[in-house]
Amino acid sequence: QKPVPSDIVISRSCVPKPIDGLAREVGLLSEEVELYGKTKAKVQLSIIKRLQAQPDGKYVVVTGITPTPLGEGKSTTTIGLVQALGAQMKLNVFACVRQPSQGPTFGIKGGAAGGGYSQVIPMEEFNLHLTGDIHAITAANNLVAAAIDARMFHESTQTDKALYNRLVPLSGGQRTFSPIQINRLRKLGIEKTDPSTLTEEEITRFARLDIEPSSITWHRVLDTNDRFLRKITIGQAQLKRDSRGRLSLTSHSLEDMRQRLAKMVVATSRGGQPVTTEDLGVSGALTVLMRDAIKPNLMQTLEGTPVFVHAGPFANIAHGNSSILADKIALKLVGPEGFVVTEAGFGADIGMEKFFNIKCRYSGLRPHVVVLVATVRALKMHGGGPTVTAGMPLPKEYIEENLELLEKGCSNMRKQIENAQHFGVPVVVAVNAFKTDTGAELDLVCSMAKAAGAFDAVRCSHWAEGGAGALALGQAVQRASEAPSKFKFLYDLELPIADKIRIIAQKIYGADDIELLPEAQHKVALYTKQGFSNLPICMAKTHLSLSHEADKKGVPSGFILPIRDIRASVGSGFLFPLVGTMPTIPGLPTRPCFYDIDLDPETEQVNGLF
Ligand code: ADP
Repeated sequence: QKPVPSDIVISRSCVPKPIDGLAREVGLLSEEVELYGKTKAKVQLSIIKRLQAQPDGKYVVVTGITPTPLGEGKSTTTIGLVQALGAQMKLNVFACVRQPSQGPTFGIKGGAAGGGYSQVIPMEEFNLHLTGDIHAITAANNLVAAAIDARMFHESTQTDKALYNRLVPLSGGQRTFSPIQINRLRKLGIEKTDPSTLTEEEITRFARLDIEPSSITWHRVLDTNDRFLRKITIGQAQLKRDSRGRLSLTSHSLEDMRQRLAKMVVATSRGGQPVTTEDLGVSGALTVLMRDAIKPNLMQTLEGTPVFVHAGPFANIAHGNSSILADKIALKLVGPEGFVVTEAGFGADIGMEKFFNIKCRYSGLRPHVVVLVATVRALKMHGGGPTVTAGMPLPKEYIEENLELLEKGCSNMRKQIENAQHFGVPVVVAVNAFKTDTGAELDLVCSMAKAAGAFDAVRCSHWAEGGAGALALGQAVQRASEAPSKFKFLYDLELPIADKIRIIAQKIYGADDIELLPEAQHKVALYTKQGFSNLPICMAKTHLSLSHEADKKGVPSGFILPIRDIRASVGSGFLFPLVGTMPTIPGLPTRPCFYDIDLDPETEQVNGLF
């Protein structure tokens, strides 16, 4: 076999189709497309209305077994599969993937455009700024953080009347409320639009948010794995509070985004009321900052099939799925015989559980097939193989045939198949072959997967061969999409918060029970009182184990899942329990990927991305 060149060399060797041509090919009208250079475009949301009556295509979600820190090839398989379905089987297809964060791109793992002969191109555009969506999110997020601290500062130094006079300034001898201020008054139960009619008591209630500093849940963010953002102290002289980073957010129409941006809860007042971005008066400005970011980005694979790149959250500390909007538009564009393949981050216990219980609940979309990516190397690790570390050579167990370790480790795959089956959707296992895997090893994984109840299990070589290497997978997915699917959610939203967390912990992670630590108990009481208990749950848990301890491989049992704290993402619409010691922002390693990244000043080519 010929050696496979590096990702960037392969990406660069392929001349992409002009993006306006690809847009026409997939059925977009020229007025629906905003070009960002020759290889990227944004798609306007007006398309949803135009295609309203069009039936949806088949919906496939790609997930995986519990991975090693190197990643087991979910993005690569997502792209390989659409290349097989589209370029090889001549079906209409779309891949929907997330935009990578600069965290892993410059940190440990490298880019997320897929790899080998299954990539989104140009990979350097994909992996770096793309069309600026993440910058817009960062700007919007940090505007809210600044607004909170500025408001607290002004409230601490001014009387009610002075505050009111500044919030509703005189203009031409008159005071007028802005539309956002009228919304706030309505929320307070004050149905007035003329500032001169407010009573003293109403003026105080309107002017003072009276934020309790320790209740602030909104943090400054940076799209970098900056471990020192986990705990910084701001405003040294005035007031002190901790600030930790947080990344990303989602939505499914412009109107929906405006509403979500308005109802984001940033803190609680001293009187126990939730304080929102609308209360801070910043929601309109956020919508303006986010107006382009909400439009999906069109790119292409190495074999010229279309890809939407949209939204970018991590699956362990966020929901880990691309946007609902991208999936919805893609399902309309491919038509009833076509396929949309969307990726859910990390293992099936993390991204897939959130895909079903959060994303599908909000979108109303029902998936036809789950593709579960497995690798021989990760299964050997679950069978007791030595630790695998990014940037270090793989120990010999992973390079030589070892059926014993592999068979033992298949327990993790069995559990993740079972996790997918909880939702009633057929599972196809894609065994992503590496060049050191032997035929006997690959066959063993396929037979173990089928014995565990997978609809089918196939070997794939799309990393080395492109779409042709995933043809068997494409055919299996097509067959599975015709099989009966009885989709169901794992839990009812009406259940108490702790019950929903317990169901996920027991059914998906295999825990005996959960333990709510004091801060989490306090939040359960607070959010129940504030009326947020009916939201779905977005667990923040390590992706490296089914349990909360990253070094427990295979299928850990006999453990109690500790819930340290719970946060509410009211705008996005979920509660977010923090499991164990999971940090919400990763750190850079001693030798980050950025050591290898540089620009060639002659050719202006980016070197060192992978
Ligand atoms: P995930 O999406 O599961 O995190 P990726 O698709 O990003 O994983 O793949 C992780 C890394 O492994 C990438 O650098 C990719 O190029 C590489 N990779 C994936 N599949 C193979 C394979 N079959 N052989 C060699 N390298 C692979």
